[in-house]
Amino acid sequence: MKIANDVVAALAYTLTNDEGEVMDEASGEDLLWYLHGHENLLPAVEGNLLGLGVGDHVKFTLEAHEGYGDRDEANVLPIDRDMLPPEMPVELGEELLIDLGDGPQICTIVEVTETQAMVDLNHPMAGFRLHFDITVQTVREAFAEEIEHGHVHGADGTEMHEDDEEYEDEGDDEGDDEQK
Ligand SMILES: [Zn+2]
Repeated sequence: MKIANDVVAALAYTLTNDEGEVMDEASGEDLLWYLHGHENLLPAVEGNLLGLGVGDHVKFTLEAHEGYGDRDEANVLPIDRDMLPPEMPVELGEELLIDLGDGPQICTIVEVTETQAMVDLNHPMAGFRLHFDITVQTVREAFAEEIEHGHVHGADGTEMHEDDEEYEDEGDDEGDDEQK
């Protein structure tokens, strides 16, 4: 079976920047599962995976604009510290969710003064050329429900997502729901 629209695949991958630093990776038991053709991954990444089968290995480089976009310095803004909830740690490098009127956005604190915090709304990988090294580990047909939802339901198609109506929170909210 080959990767095509409405097919589920599991990937082991390493994502590095120009300096060779690993920015993201998946391997072993913790693979990246996705549903092809539903914008689960960057379009340029899905384009490189189309037609591959289990065991296939691919390496490619995306320019920043094909990845998470170029950095926009206009997205680095000062925010008054009293706009931030008092319990929120205002520390360099801290990521927080703020809402400037367009819905909640992740930002990174890049500078702190007595009265203000400079926040960077650019995607943490914006502006980077991205080097992917991917091995296809599994390819399977998607379940109708996965296609309907536009996302994968885990290795065997039975795991629910937080935004699914049937979803029941099992109290495990640590880290595994990041946007890929
Ligand atoms: Zn779902």
